[in-house]
Amino acid sequence: MLCTAGHNNADNAAFCRVCGVNTFSAPSIVVKQSSEFNGMAIASMVLGIVWLYGVGSILALVFGYMAKREIARTGQRGIGMSTAGIVLGWVGVAGVVFIIFFVTAIFHSVHFTPCAPNCQP
Ligand SMILES: [Zn+2]
Repeated sequence: MLCTAGHNNADNAAFCRVCGVNTFSAPSIVVKQSSEFNGMAIASMVLGIVWLYGVGSILALVFGYMAKREIARTGQRGIGMSTAGIVLGWVGVAGVVFIIFFVTAIFHSVHFTPCAPNCQP
């Protein structure tokens, strides 16, 4: 395992035996110690909150599922935020469907009556 200055060290070394730094270039260490938040997870949660008449919700779902895949691959933080984005996304989409249903009922005077089994809507 090489330190960032290029010295060779044991694979489990915490500090470089030559220069004393604790930063190593081995990819497995970088992934394990990643404390970076996934940008798409943050975007997903924010878009889920702002809603934007359902546009934000749909983008929240897209970013949320992409973030989950990327976090699984990179070990970044933000899995909870991507989950929040996906949940908020589905709630937002359901809200849009409900509003369209509701507005349609009002402006087109559609009467919603209980439908007996096997009847056509
Ligand atoms: Zn070194």
